Amino acid sequence: MYSCYHVDFQPYQLPLPFPLVTAHGPWTIREGIVIRLTNAHGQTTEGEIAPLPWFGTETLAMAQDFCQQLNGQITPAEIEQIPHTLPCCQFAFGSAVWHDCPENDDGRSLLPCQLLPTGAAVFPYLASTPLPTHPTLKWKIGVHSFEIESVWFLRLIKQLPPGTRLRLDANGGLSLEDAQQWLSLLDRQRQNTSAPCIEYLEQPLPPERIKEMFGLARTFQTAIALDESVAQLAQLRTLYQQEWPGLYILKAAIMGDPRRLDSWLNAHPCPVIFSSVFETAIARHTVLKLAQRWNAAEYAVGFSPLQLSQSE
Ligand code: MG
Repeated sequence: MYSCYHVDFQPYQLPLPFPLVTAHGPWTIREGIVIRLTNAHGQTTEGEIAPLPWFGTETLAMAQDFCQQLNGQITPAEIEQIPHTLPCCQFAFGSAVWHDCPENDDGRSLLPCQLLPTGAAVFPYLASTPLPTHPTLKWKIGVHSFEIESVWFLRLIKQLPPGTRLRLDANGGLSLEDAQQWLSLLDRQRQNTSAPCIEYLEQPLPPERIKEMFGLARTFQTAIALDESVAQLAQLRTLYQQEWPGLYILKAAIMGDPRRLDSWLNAHPCPVIFSSVFETAIARHTVLKLAQRWNAAEYAVGFSPLQLSQSE
């Protein structure tokens, strides 16, 4: 182990492939920082800081301040001690020094999940875009009222190819009443054998309303996946201890040092699905390494076909 790394860092800005509209509003530009560590032998490794402040991570400015105050140097011990208030910095530096992970453990390939345009924009998209056979698709809800979106939903599921698996993601934007209406509707669709398989409803309520989400998970048959509620490893630990009965969506790029997440998952098997924060190929490489090892086998990862093909 080398005593000290030389640190370079470079902020970046990239437009998203199409503006993403969620219950948090529109998002058009991904900003982050690429860090480069050089050891005493001149060998270089990279990591990526891709913050998502509305998930409770540090802001880009905080990450930049952290990189600046390093004065171009960091030790392995200092990487271990990056504070939990900087989870994306922990991820980037941890990734850059994570060499002991076997690549592609069992050789299984990961399936992609295609994010559909939000709201009624999905219909012209479906009319003009050929979908693969048996796709996994995701559609955001909680942007318009249940009355409007449920009509679109019923129209949408009639237009999807056979064998589609569909995920709905509310980004915590539903009221309890709307969540109950959505889950009743989704449970009713389960009886309809010609309808696509609804894999789960993702994060119906905001993270602080976890008790109500436990109630929903116990009341309805449709699975609930938590996303915003497990933005940090500490939250994942707590929910695991509380025996959350659904799935966990892990945005590993914002969850701190990947070596810590890897060893926690090794000791605590649970149904997890790895998901993108629209990071570049640098962070994606580490996230997919984790996904190869721990993503629930029967589920696609939350990365688009393009993101998965770019990573190869
Ligand atoms: Mg989500």
